[in-house]
Amino acid sequence: MSRSASLSRKPQRAVAALLLLAACAAVACGQPDQSQPKNIIVFIADGCGESTQRALELWRGEPMIYQGPAWTRFDATTYPLRPGPRPSRGVPPLEQDQRFVYDYALATDTTPDEGSSLGYPFHFRSYRWLRATASDSANTATSIFTGVSTYRGAINVDGGQQPIPAVSKAASERGKAVGIVTSVPVSHATPACAAGASVPNREMYHDITHQMLTGTVCTVIAGAGHPEYDDNAKRRETPKYTYISEGDWNALKAGSVAGATSPAWTLVDDTERVRALAEGDTPERLFILAPVAHTLQQMRTPHVRGDSTPPGVHPLTPGVPTLRELTLAALNVLDNDPDGFFLMVEGGAVDWAMHDTEIGRMIEEMTDFHSTVEAVCELLDAGDRGFDWSNTLVIVTADHDHLLLGPESDTVAFQPLEDRGPGVVPGHLWHADTHSNLPVPLFVRGVGAERFGDIPTTPAGPKRVFHQTAIGELLFRLVGAPNAATRE
Ligand SMILES: [Zn+2]
Repeated sequence: MSRSASLSRKPQRAVAALLLLAACAAVACGQPDQSQPKNIIVFIADGCGESTQRALELWRGEPMIYQGPAWTRFDATTYPLRPGPRPSRGVPPLEQDQRFVYDYALATDTTPDEGSSLGYPFHFRSYRWLRATASDSANTATSIFTGVSTYRGAINVDGGQQPIPAVSKAASERGKAVGIVTSVPVSHATPACAAGASVPNREMYHDITHQMLTGTVCTVIAGAGHPEYDDNAKRRETPKYTYISEGDWNALKAGSVAGATSPAWTLVDDTERVRALAEGDTPERLFILAPVAHTLQQMRTPHVRGDSTPPGVHPLTPGVPTLRELTLAALNVLDNDPDGFFLMVEGGAVDWAMHDTEIGRMIEEMTDFHSTVEAVCELLDAGDRGFDWSNTLVIVTADHDHLLLGPESDTVAFQPLEDRGPGVVPGHLWHADTHSNLPVPLFVRGVGAERFGDIPTTPAGPKRVFHQTAIGELLFRLVGAPNAATRE
C-alpha cells in the first residue's frame, strides 16, 4: 500500500515558479531535487556476464525485458584494487594494483597458451589473464554500493580495511526504506554490501548478519541461509549456524535482537506467509528466511557439479518461495514509506550454478531473476502502488563475469555460445569454475537513467567502458548525498 499518492499530483502552474525555487534550495542543502529518483531498484545477477545473459536469451528464444528499447545499455569493468587483504608489493594500500586494471589488449590476446590452472587449460593468453585478474562479489558489490574500489573479499572496507558507508545508508538517512532480497544466504557478499555491513573478510557471516539486524539501514531483509533447513527444504535434526549466529537466531525467533533498533523485526520463514505478504497489510520491519540452507533451488538434489541437465527436468523443491515472491513481499513493505525506497535484488545463485558448471541450473536461476525483473516492471507500468517510471530508477546488472564461451572456444578464441534453438541448452564450454575480468553489461531505465550517459568512459575495442565504482558514485548523487570517497 502507498500513502504517497498525493505527492505525485502535478503542481498548479501558478505555483510552479515557487516550487522551482524550493527545489533549487533543496539541492543547495543536499536534499533530492525533482530530477532525482524517489525510488531506486538495483537488480544484480551474480556472476552474469555477457555469455550468461546470452544463455538465457538463447534458451528463451527472445530478448529479455531489459534489452528492450526503453532501456539504455552500458558496460562496466569490475576489476579489484588488488587480489587480497594484504597490499601488493610496492603499492600503497589505497592505490590500484595496475596489474589488475582491465586491459583490452591483454584481454583479447589470442596467442596460444599451453598452461593450465585448477584443472582448466588456458588455451589462450587472454583466458589466462582474464582468470588471473578476476574480481569477486565482495569487491564488486563494494564498488557498486560505495563507489570505492577495494580488494577481493572486502565487504564495504577500503584498501586500508577502514569501513566505508554504503549508498543504502545514505538512502536510509534521507528517510527511505531499504530492502535487500537474494536467492542465497542474506549474509553473502552482495546482500552484505548492499545492506551497508562492513567487515574486512566476506566470510565473517555472523558479524555481517548481526550488523544487518542491529543497524538502522534495512527495513526488509529476505533470502536463504536458514539454520534449521537443508538444501531440499527438509528440517535438519540439528541446526547449522553458518550464516547467522545461534544467539541472533534465537533472539529473532523470540522477537527481540539485542542491540536492534525499533521497530522490531518480524521473522517470517513460512512460504505461504511470504506469498500472502505480496498484498495487503505488512509488518513494519520484515526478515524473511526462506526454509532452505544455501540457495532457494540451485543446490537441491540431485545436485552434481558439471551437470548439463536442461532447466526444469529436475522438479523444483515445493514450498520454497521464488526470488520473485520474496521481492513482491519486500516491495509491499517498502512502498509504505512516503520518502521512497532503495531495493537491491540479487539473483545470487546464478553465480553458484556457474561455479558448479551447471548450465541448466544457471538458466533456471536466470529465469527466476528475469521473472522478478518482469514482475517489478509490471508494477512500475501499472503505477498504482506509489512507484512508477516517473519516480523510480531501475538498474539491471551483474557484479562480475565467468569465462563461459562457445563449444569450440578452446581453439576458436572467444567463440560465442552456440544457438541450438529455444528450449535447448546452448552449445558451451566452461573455461574455469571461477570468475573472469571481462566487463559486464548494465541496463538502466527510469528517472536518472540518462545520467549514466554522463559517466566518463574509456575505449575497450568496439565498446566504451566505465569502472563499476562509477555506479556507486552516481547512486550517491542520485540519493542526494556526497560520494563516500570524497566525504569528509
Ligand atoms: Zn562467484
